Amino acid sequence: MQRRKFLTSAGTGLIGGSVVGLGGSAAAQSPPAAEIKWRMTSSFPKSLDTIFGGAELIARRVAAATGGKFQIQVFAANEIVPGTGVLDAVKDGTVQMGHTASYYYVGKDPTFAFDTAMPFGLNGRQQNAWMYEGGGLPLMREFFKDYNIYQIPAGNTGAQMGGWYRKEIKTVADLKGLKFRIGGFGGQVLQKLGVVPQQIPGGDVYPALEKGTIDAAEWVGPYDDEKLGFNKVAKFYYYPGWWEGGPQLSAYINLTEWAKLPKEYQSILEAACAEANIDMQAKYDAKNPAALKRLVAGGTQLRPFSNEILAACYKASLELYAETAAKNPKFAKIYAPWKKFRDEQVEWFSLCESRFDTFAAATVRAERKK
Ligand code: CA
Repeated sequence: MQRRKFLTSAGTGLIGGSVVGLGGSAAAQSPPAAEIKWRMTSSFPKSLDTIFGGAELIARRVAAATGGKFQIQVFAANEIVPGTGVLDAVKDGTVQMGHTASYYYVGKDPTFAFDTAMPFGLNGRQQNAWMYEGGGLPLMREFFKDYNIYQIPAGNTGAQMGGWYRKEIKTVADLKGLKFRIGGFGGQVLQKLGVVPQQIPGGDVYPALEKGTIDAAEWVGPYDDEKLGFNKVAKFYYYPGWWEGGPQLSAYINLTEWAKLPKEYQSILEAACAEANIDMQAKYDAKNPAALKRLVAGGTQLRPFSNEILAACYKASLELYAETAAKNPKFAKIYAPWKKFRDEQVEWFSLCESRFDTFAAATVRAERKK
């Protein structure tokens, strides 16, 4: 005991001495971990444990991995800023961090859509492939620098449903004049076909649909949509949400705050966001099947979008991309490599994955009917 105490004191003395004597060559000695408190504002209401839960997971993991030294307090939409105010709040330093869907900001620049989802774009796996390994992340981070933001992928919902409609939508003509709450770039595509797109944050969609201010609304998929109660005010539930094959959620960090953060904390935060990215998709995939069964049992009518509607929407999407690329150099710079990557992904997935999924779907369906 005595001997250990002596060694400890001697060691401390030695390190202390070297700092004084050699002018700060104490790099091997870890500095005491910094205590940091941040605020993170989410675009989503607390009631959505899936999508709001992503921000909570990040905060929880960061606190646990730093022994409680790095604390991030999470705020729901409207506690500090509205759901669509996250970009400006992080950019201006109102908060250090946010959790949001970048396509909420396509009104500022359509280039934001690449960070979440493009109509007829990537599915969730392909979005990860593009971001982490396909050159997407460096391109997006360069774009986000203009907004004083460091962005990290931090969640995915998987392919979304096409939304809730009070009336059946059978042909392209049925889209004319339809007041439709839709997130992101998909609204601009549908505008070409006569839809009147509405940008309304998640928590405000139900009252608008109930009052008839809007005719239809899309949010995510069975689990969230059931929670928000859309089935009570619209009967027809369409699929797929072709404008969101695998929408990504993103963590936004004020660039100045990011630069001030100790390297260890930066690394922990990146890892926590990667965990949130996997966890959110897992939650949706695990919870959606039971929710869909409940909805159908309660009278919801499932409808696939007709081939006529899908083909017209695809054509309108490509037109919109070409027009946007022609007048927006930032968009054009990302669109060209993104399109190449997407086309290659679709070709690859159409072979092995598609055959596997299609066979499994047909077999399981047949077995369940027996
Ligand atoms: Ca959606």
